Amino acid sequence: MNAITNKSSSWDEFIGRLEGPEGCDFKDSGFTCFGDHRLSRKILAEMILSEREIEASIKFFEENGGFCDCEVVLNLTGPSPYEIYRELMERTVH
Ligand SMILES: [Zn+2]
Repeated sequence: MNAITNKSSSWDEFIGRLEGPEGCDFKDSGFTCFGDHRLSRKILAEMILSEREIEASIKFFEENGGFCDCEVVLNLTGPSPYEIYRELMERTVH
């Protein structure tokens, strides 16, 4: 039983990949989300989780407000690097 949760040692790696170009690709201009967990599933499969572990991980995400890929990033993390970056931009651009 090695579902990935925010207590896992590989959580940061997972979220980093989900935020990045192979996942939701968060940018100032927007991000990718299909309204499901296809990006999370792809990354979890690449991190060599079994089908069962992937399902357990997705269940954990949903129980914590992550009903799709972008919500996993937005609702299961504290202020993300993306949000910190945005805040910095808003503060310094003018
Ligand atoms: Zn989404």
